[in-house]
Amino acid sequence: MARYTGPVCRLCRREGEKLFLKGERCYSDKCSVGRRSYAPGQHGQGRKKNSEYATQFRMKQKAKRYYGLLENQFHMYFLEAERRQGVTGENLLRLLESRLDNVVYRLGFASSRKEARQLVLHNHFTVNGKKVNIPSYLVKEGDTVAVRSSSLDSEKIKAVLEANASRPTPNWLSRDNDTKSGKVLNLPAREDIDTPVEESLIVELYSK
Ligand code: SF4
Repeated sequence: MARYTGPVCRLCRREGEKLFLKGERCYSDKCSVGRRSYAPGQHGQGRKKNSEYATQFRMKQKAKRYYGLLENQFHMYFLEAERRQGVTGENLLRLLESRLDNVVYRLGFASSRKEARQLVLHNHFTVNGKKVNIPSYLVKEGDTVAVRSSSLDSEKIKAVLEANASRPTPNWLSRDNDTKSGKVLNLPAREDIDTPVEESLIVELYSK
């Protein structure tokens, strides 16, 4: 599946805040947002547009980039969120949070969503005991996501697990450090999701 392959720190600078796309570097003083706190490009330090459309557009771009999706993929999630019962914006965030690559990242089995996506693609995870290598797979309440037993000897996996072992887990997930697995206790409510977006602006944008 297509994905963005350009420089990711540029995306954070464009949105004016950390989107945590690079793992460890994001927590260090090498983070570009702190060092160059203006948008990239020739006009990056110029006046910002504050129109209603610009605000809604930037919010959508931020959410899309936070979860590492391209426009078409993100729009598909919006259409599905709209189709489901409930508040569209909350449905959208819940769907995005339910992606397997996001759950692997949230459980601390990867340093970033991008790394989680790669590890899932490389067959390092199971869901309910079955190998799943689809980053967009949507987990359900009660599912167990685990590192495959055959992957536990991998130096790469060992390093990733060690580096992220103390990262807090959101309260809709539980992590078992002994079995290198995690359980989806329930799908997240809005207050369980710390993604820094105002989803109502995204709904307004797509509803035009
Ligand atoms: Fe964004 Fe991380 Fe790069 Fe900082 S280091 S700009 S948070 S991707």
